[in-house]
Amino acid sequence: MYRPATITDSHIHLSTAGTARARRTRLSQLDERLVEAYHGRWSRSLASRDEQGPETDVPDVETVARRWLAELDAAGIDRAVFFPAYDAPDDLLAFIASAPDRFVGYTTFDPTNRENAHRLQQQVDEGGVRGLKLYPMAGHFHADDDACFPVYEVCADKGIPVIIHFGISIDATHDLRYGNPLDLSHIALRFPSVRWIIPHFGTGFFREALMLAAQYQNVYLDTSSSNNWVQYAPVPTTVADLFRRTLDALGSERLIFGTDSSFFPRGFRTNILEQQLAICNDLNLSPAEMDNIFNDNIRRIIDG
Ligand SMILES: [Zn+2]
Repeated sequence: MYRPATITDSHIHLSTAGTARARRTRLSQLDERLVEAYHGRWSRSLASRDEQGPETDVPDVETVARRWLAELDAAGIDRAVFFPAYDAPDDLLAFIASAPDRFVGYTTFDPTNRENAHRLQQQVDEGGVRGLKLYPMAGHFHADDDACFPVYEVCADKGIPVIIHFGISIDATHDLRYGNPLDLSHIALRFPSVRWIIPHFGTGFFREALMLAAQYQNVYLDTSSSNNWVQYAPVPTTVADLFRRTLDALGSERLIFGTDSSFFPRGFRTNILEQQLAICNDLNLSPAEMDNIFNDNIRRIIDG
């Protein structure tokens, strides 16, 4: 079985005491039935995979950074991209500063707030941030809203990628109205130098994700998570099918490996890495194609 000599995980959620506080604040503002649905979906999902839930007291950023270094070392991962689910720049910046050769940070915020264009510029110039993660379904905005354009101008200017969660979400409070990846169509055209990444093969919108990537060369797909959304696919679909169809349609240069790891004690999701390496070997990909998916494509985006 071929395993690329260097592997970069392009998709890990940074969870710290600071992001946990931001999450509690958000949940405290929601209807209690939604909060119940939120916790219910999380526990069902973890139970279905026989996984232990997240620890209740998430430690400070220094402890989390030490843990992730140990996890990446143990799994043989050279570098990894981390992003918080909530606007928590202090923890993000402290985290990446603790190991800049191993941790790559993408920031997140409400992109419809024009002041964030300036904050992004600062975080890139002074904090070493290398990308932007957006959650339209949590923030109730369309990714192609004109109000986001000043932020996208900064992404174009600084050469940083934008990864946007579209489609089904483990977060039951997210609104699918803002989750159609076709919202990328106009901005992929309008900001042709920005690399736009659709995670989890479109999370249910696989057809749309492939259509966008066929239409625009600056659209990429990521492989991250168990992709157990395939259980809702209208025709029986496996994760191997997702790889095969994407590679047939796009080749290996716009597919990016990620695990969607997030919390402890689970830590790095070795099982996702092993599953995806096995799929690529079963599909008889060449070493060069696997190097693209597991390392080179994301390196070209964050370092290039
Ligand atoms: Zn994720």
